[in-house]
Amino acid sequence: MSTDCIFCAIVAGDIPGRIVYEGETITAFLDANPLAPGHVLVVPSDHTERLNDLANDTVSEFYETVHDLVPATEKAVDAPATTVAVNNGDAAGQEVPHVHCHVVPRFANDDGGPIHAVFGDRPDLSDAELDDVADNIRDARS
Ligand code: AMP
Ligand code: ZN
Repeated sequence: MSTDCIFCAIVAGDIPGRIVYEGETITAFLDANPLAPGHVLVVPSDHTERLNDLANDTVSEFYETVHDLVPATEKAVDAPATTVAVNNGDAAGQEVPHVHCHVVPRFANDDGGPIHAVFGDRPDLSDAELDDVADNIRDARS
């Protein structure tokens, strides 16, 4: 637990949170400033700053919880869709430095747009550049 982390405080019960799931390694609760009714945050119960740092024995429950809460949330607020996203790191707009996956119910004509709307102009990459990037990602994994 990080003493100055708001999400650690919610997991510990030190500050109120509307908990919707408590598992062995994962907790989920309503976002306090929801982008839509039913906006849920799924977090590792242990303090972890970025998705990259998620402990191996937490990864499955993290994604399983997202997988469970997507249909549960849609059903609860009668939403036909959800946007599921992680702001992973400062440059991506992560404000609370404790991993959290947003599950945001979406409605027809809610004006939210797709995740693509977050980005401005797309880079104009040549085939060679795309090949290089794919090679680099494959290398970085091994
Ligand atoms: P991000 O910008 O991805 O780091 O998102 C942080 C999210 O945490 C925002 O959607 C906030 O509304 C939400 N948030 C901040 N404080 C609390 C809190 N005490 N309880 C629940 N959600 C919170
Ligand atoms: Zn924390």
